[in-house]
Amino acid sequence: MKIFHNAKWWIDGKIDPEIVAIGVKDGKIAELHRKLPQGKFRGVDLGGNYVFPGFIDTHTHSFEGGLYSMMIDLSPAGSISDVLELINEYSPNKGRYIFAWNFDESLIKEKRFPTRRELDKVLPNKNLVLRRIDGHSCIVNSFALNNIRDNGMLHDAQDEVLRGYDNDLAVHWFHKSLDQDIIIEAYHAAAQIALKGGFTGIHTMIGDADMSITHYELIRDRLSDFAVRYTIYPQSFNIDAALDAGATRVGGCILADGSIGSKTAALSFSYAGSGERGILYQTDDFWKAFITRAHQNDLQVAVHCIGDLAIKQINDIYLDLEQTDSRDLRHQLIHCEITPDSLVDEIAKSRAAAVMQPSFDLLWGGEEGFYARMLGKDKTFEMNRFASLLDKGVKVTGSSDWYITELDIVMSLQALLNHTNPDERLSLKDAIAIYTENAAWLSHDEDSLGKIKKGFAADFSALGSLPSIDITDTKKQVKAIIREGEVVHDAL
Ligand SMILES: [Zn+2]
Ligand SMILES: [Zn+2]
Repeated sequence: MKIFHNAKWWIDGKIDPEIVAIGVKDGKIAELHRKLPQGKFRGVDLGGNYVFPGFIDTHTHSFEGGLYSMMIDLSPAGSISDVLELINEYSPNKGRYIFAWNFDESLIKEKRFPTRRELDKVLPNKNLVLRRIDGHSCIVNSFALNNIRDNGMLHDAQDEVLRGYDNDLAVHWFHKSLDQDIIIEAYHAAAQIALKGGFTGIHTMIGDADMSITHYELIRDRLSDFAVRYTIYPQSFNIDAALDAGATRVGGCILADGSIGSKTAALSFSYAGSGERGILYQTDDFWKAFITRAHQNDLQVAVHCIGDLAIKQINDIYLDLEQTDSRDLRHQLIHCEITPDSLVDEIAKSRAAAVMQPSFDLLWGGEEGFYARMLGKDKTFEMNRFASLLDKGVKVTGSSDWYITELDIVMSLQALLNHTNPDERLSLKDAIAIYTENAAWLSHDEDSLGKIKKGFAADFSALGSLPSIDITDTKKQVKAIIREGEVVHDAL
């Protein structure tokens, strides 16, 4: 028996002053102690910190996040010559595939992408892709372009800057060309970032939606090697591939619509100052066929839907299946950003889970924020409705969509406590719940994860204080991460 002591324990929605220590055996919680056991024991002193059930982020793109953390971050660049210098400094001793990311031409003095010729000068003989910050466009050097063309792709690409499907093709080629070692290293890097952000577990997508499930099996067979508990999704429209790989779920950021920034999120109203209403990427029939077949094969489905029309399109199918063939699969509405009252009620009926991102409100909410500019001020009250959805009984879970926003539990909890719409703020109890017990429920692990309870996994996240909106330096609050009774991250 290992005894974790000197901590304040979060049990059943509050700090329980009665419990002074937790006994752990074989990675599971064996005993909640009201008195410190007498005599000799193997103890872990948790430094007087606040200890929660291990936090779980239910939607990340960890491969990209981990991979890019090992590569070239262009966010400090202020000019084309900065960009080229960063590439030049990084590349000489690294592998054959180089990713430069976080490029934002609006922050570059010249207000443009580097040209292919400029890239060729600094990197003539390795494959280089430079990705825009939103991932929706990129440019590759000539060495990479020739290799991609040798593989029968991008022969018709006219512009140097690749957008739309050409962008997807180029990025997919880079991802699938990587050596196994680099791919595995990327997941280890992501795991370390997750621990530092306060998480014992993260859900992650593997695969490129239209393309393939790429290295899903590689990671599936190594899950026990990683410090963080990964829950993996074959991110694909290919149900047979998911079933062949033994998956119990399918999807992720497979797109019902696009994004608000690119005015492709599908709305029942117009974007502010324009007649545009966004795009439903697929027909109702397409989704009906895909989701129904997945459902009949007992796969949990996850779909990216941001605009109210896209959410309704997907939820209508979940609702129909719930009423005709209920199976408790816990299908997911990823993002679920724009939900007028009527849609909140319909989501409650379909029993779909809303997998949402508190940081989106933090970054883009409020009457002066990005959402208000794109959609109009009144619409900001119909967005990221954490409290309304929970009130109606919808299971809401929390996530970062990392690498889109940071893996940072305290920042995420702050965003919920301090939602820009006061009606959608959560209590600390509910905010913690969406990252613990609700997250465990999402992966059908509610009997083993998400609570400090006898028989549950000894997964703990120790924080320096009770999360509140006054905390600055949020990541410094993460003091220790314990997974199955082992300290896997120690900042005590
Ligand atoms: Zn995503
Ligand atoms: Zn998405």
